[in-house]
Amino acid sequence: MREAEEAGATYLHIDVMDGVFVPSITFGMPIIKSLRPHTKLVFDVHLMILDPIRYIDRFIDLGAEVLTFHEEVAREPRELTALIDKIHARGKKAGMAIKPETDISVFKPFLHELEQFLVMTVRPGYGGQAYIPETTEKIWQTRKMLDAAGIDADIQVDGGITDETLPIVLEAGANVIVAGSALFKGDIADNCRRFLAKMNES
Ligand code: ZN
Repeated sequence: MREAEEAGATYLHIDVMDGVFVPSITFGMPIIKSLRPHTKLVFDVHLMILDPIRYIDRFIDLGAEVLTFHEEVAREPRELTALIDKIHARGKKAGMAIKPETDISVFKPFLHELEQFLVMTVRPGYGGQAYIPETTEKIWQTRKMLDAAGIDADIQVDGGITDETLPIVLEAGANVIVAGSALFKGDIADNCRRFLAKMNES
């Protein structure tokens, strides 16, 4: 984490998985709490969990600054509105994520409400997966929809981002890039610097 920060990374993307919404279990609050004093990186918490509204306050108390929940967890749209309102009431940024099979039209009612749109570029649940090429079109369409509405929000991509796929997602309009294996396997500082240089070029 420190190596990434020193190399210029700005966010720490934290995948919280509950073993229900996705098959894997990662980590929860104690780990996040223990990391917080050791870095100034923005804690970008990706909640791959059911019932995220139950945990929003607690994650914010522990230092989360961007909170992204999945559209698919909601039984009805007003649950999504309630989540966004709760995050904003605490002065934090709200993000909504979609799985690769979810249509981007679900973003539409929330274009003006969200700071971040997360287009998953693999099926959520495991690290080290290959980028799903069909998701490029979803990034394009999301950027187009935002541009048409005159909104300059973040589009985040998550999953399978490598030296090969990075230029593709940047060109499609993503500007917040999550990378796990590509950065943390090998020389972390070198990998981060190379990624950041490519992002600055675009
Ligand atoms: Zn994630």
